[in-house]
Amino acid sequence: MGLADEPADRKTWKTVPGAIVATELVPLPTNKSKAVKLAFDNKLSLQSFFIFGDSAETAQTAQETLDYWKEYCKNGQVGLLFIQPYPGSEIYKRAIKKGIIKDRMHFIKGLTIWNWFNLTNTMTNQEVSELKTKVLDMVSKYTKFIRPRRLKKMKNGNYEVEIKCPFCKEIINYKNCQIQNRFSYGFSLICRKCSLRSFIVSPLQKFAYANYSWVRTFRDLELKILGFLKKKRL
Ligand SMILES: [Zn+2]
Repeated sequence: MGLADEPADRKTWKTVPGAIVATELVPLPTNKSKAVKLAFDNKLSLQSFFIFGDSAETAQTAQETLDYWKEYCKNGQVGLLFIQPYPGSEIYKRAIKKGIIKDRMHFIKGLTIWNWFNLTNTMTNQEVSELKTKVLDMVSKYTKFIRPRRLKKMKNGNYEVEIKCPFCKEIINYKNCQIQNRFSYGFSLICRKCSLRSFIVSPLQKFAYANYSWVRTFRDLELKILGFLKKKRL
């Protein structure tokens, strides 16, 4: 089930055009966890995430969302992402107006989901940078990253993966998992018994996620350097 979760501060969410507030669908304002709890109680797996960094975001609204995530979202069942200025969107126009995106072609060619631009009305760049570190640290700390008990290549080139669900402890075998590189992989699987999602990672990826904020910072820097070099060659 897909859920567009309401951030703790409704005002923030209402600045996103087309957004539907979850508690309007399940109107129980005293219990914000209702929609998420209903999904877990009924063993529905969630395809859902919170997005930080919209124009109305403040350090306080972001903290409220993180507190909610930590308390109700069961070890990473709901993802944490930062708002992305996709070409044509309002936030993209805002990024151009603020001078954050200077070269449109260069930006579009290197389009990723890992931008952490300050597109808020009031937060300082320092506050956005601190928020980024905080979000990545929370992902490292609370998401269930597990290594497979067994990994076996099948005749068709895909992998058979055996895991022990970190939530209900069931041992489950999945066939036809696509793994490009057996030393560096990371993907999510949903438990057939309890329907909760865990993230299956190689030892290398497990290390990377355990140190997510500085690995991500290093990776961002690497992408920036590569982008710069590519631009120079054009
Ligand atoms: Zn399970």
